[in-house]
Amino acid sequence: MLDPGPLEPLRDSLLDWWETHGRHAIPWKLRPDGSRPGPGESLDPFGVWVAEVMLQQTQLAVVLPYWQRWMAAFPDLRTLAAASEHDVLMVWQGLGYYARARRLHGGAQRLIAAGGDPWPRTLEGWLALPGIGRSTAASILSSAFDLAHPILDGNVQRVLARLVAHPVPPKRQLADFWRLSATVLDPKRPRAFNQALMDLGAGVCTPRQPTCGACPWRELCAAYAAGDPGRFPVKDTPAPIPFQVIGVGVVQDGEGRVLIDQRLQEGLLGGLWEFPGGKQEPGEAIEATIERELREELAIEVAVGEELISLEHAYSHKRLRFVVHLCRWLAGEPQPLASQQVRWVAPQELSDYPFPAANARIIAALQARIAAG
Ligand code: SF4
Repeated sequence: MLDPGPLEPLRDSLLDWWETHGRHAIPWKLRPDGSRPGPGESLDPFGVWVAEVMLQQTQLAVVLPYWQRWMAAFPDLRTLAAASEHDVLMVWQGLGYYARARRLHGGAQRLIAAGGDPWPRTLEGWLALPGIGRSTAASILSSAFDLAHPILDGNVQRVLARLVAHPVPPKRQLADFWRLSATVLDPKRPRAFNQALMDLGAGVCTPRQPTCGACPWRELCAAYAAGDPGRFPVKDTPAPIPFQVIGVGVVQDGEGRVLIDQRLQEGLLGGLWEFPGGKQEPGEAIEATIERELREELAIEVAVGEELISLEHAYSHKRLRFVVHLCRWLAGEPQPLASQQVRWVAPQELSDYPFPAANARIIAALQARIAAG
């Protein structure tokens, strides 16, 4: 492990900076009356757990209103465990990566079923819950109970890589970065220190153009001393992100109802509802894609009409373009051959179903089209 330098000035300068410049209004890091907790004091682990899972793939500013909405709907573990999956997905709707919501739900049921004090105080205890990795577990333990566990999210990896001018991409030497995070952590104020480290990464030591002039670690930072902080963390050449075109049919019957299906339970968007469709084959016209997919997945024949909307959506591992056409149902009783169930619904009832983010724009386009006559 590369030497981070003298620890006391490192810890003290960061915590001094944090007192003035830290993000102190994060609701799950405060007591119920809005004041800051003292050293060693515990906070409600439920709110911390929910927030940490939301933060796994989403930034703090986006998470805040979703967290408030979630806590209003499910204020404690027991309420969440007793909720239906439909209600859980409805409240999560818009935040993406829905498997996180299902894991929170399943985790709550498991913690309640175990009886007694439901809240683990060890890394192993949290790691046993679905979807909880080491950094999330450590962050929950330090935030909720002020226990001395190092964290290593993307922000922390970047700050530490720069602090020691690490010559290897963090993903290839994670063990070394974990040791570094454990070494710099202040054992007397772990909650404050970990939060300060994250705040430094989010506000000062940012991915592009870090504001080193405002950084409490300027005098101690090897990347700054080398004159090129932006070179760290060192990166591997990224693999190209795959791109796919998806043909989607908004199928209407003679009464104006539209056909939706519920995805199978597994996968990124498992359990959500969507308009049917699938991947365009090479050389295939998009109308032919939609006809073929609806035949294969629902056993129906449709007449593909005009385009309703075309939109792009980027996931972390792929980019999709959805080309959506209005379709008229011709024949065949819809069968859920590649989904859990299919349903005809009136357009105004679509808001009763949880959809992935890309489908929300399709619904808006459909309702605008209906309103325009
Ligand atoms: S001096 Fe610059 S590069 Fe170093 S930790 Fe601070 S902001 Fe990051």
